[in-house]
Amino acid sequence: MRLEIEGLSVRYGAVQALEDVSLVVPSGTTTAIIGANGAGKSTFLKAVAGLVPPQGGRILVEGRDLAALTVEARHALGVVLCPEGRRLFPDLTVHENLLAGALRRKGRAAVAADIAAVYDRFPRLDERRGSLARNLSGGEQQMAAIGRALVGRPRLLLLDEPSLGLAPGMVRVMADAIRAIAAAGVTLLLVEQNARLALTLAATGHVLEAGRRVLSGDAAALIDDPRVRDAYLGGA
Ligand code: ATP
Repeated sequence: MRLEIEGLSVRYGAVQALEDVSLVVPSGTTTAIIGANGAGKSTFLKAVAGLVPPQGGRILVEGRDLAALTVEARHALGVVLCPEGRRLFPDLTVHENLLAGALRRKGRAAVAADIAAVYDRFPRLDERRGSLARNLSGGEQQMAAIGRALVGRPRLLLLDEPSLGLAPGMVRVMADAIRAIAAAGVTLLLVEQNARLALTLAATGHVLEAGRRVLSGDAAALIDDPRVRDAYLGGA
């Protein structure tokens, strides 16, 4: 699902979170947005998902302007956000949280098959299916959040900080899952403070600074770009 953003601006009161950002996410590719804390990365994904209203600009999927569409209508089209901080329902079980991802779907057999596929992808979640989300580890919560998003049948998956706060072994589990989702043909827009991880997974990267897109390019080239290395890869 091709995503095209033209001149997107978002403001929260006096804070200009995004200013005149344009970029394209080609269908069937993984694109990374990197940047420091507060650069506007989460706001960008929220605007695409319909959670924050733009002050200006256009958001198009497959050439269709999303402006008039609610969060629910965008979700029904396949624009699915997996939010930062996981945002699970803490008092529901893992299984109930996965089912919540399918609220707008009919066809119980297909939903059950998708949930089974999530358990295949993350066997640990299967073991924890009856546990309340509030009792999960950070890694388990992230698996459940991605699982819930997948049960929504995304065509464009907006992933906000999937590696945040995870131990290295769990980051690898997430990276493998993201590669598998991409290989299945889902268009991915990945926001990360872990720039190295994001640029390793993506074909193309964009750098946001203070709400503006300041640099874009081939992800492999960005990893080698001194401006990215010094600012976002610890100079390594
Ligand atoms: P982080 O990784 O910390 O989430 P980010 O790059 O995702 O950073 P955003 O969360 O998009 O950045 O925030 C961009 C700017 O907008 C920041 O200055 C932030 O303080 C501000 N901001 C975000 N949400 C709100 C809000 N609901 N009300 C007011 N200001 C906000």
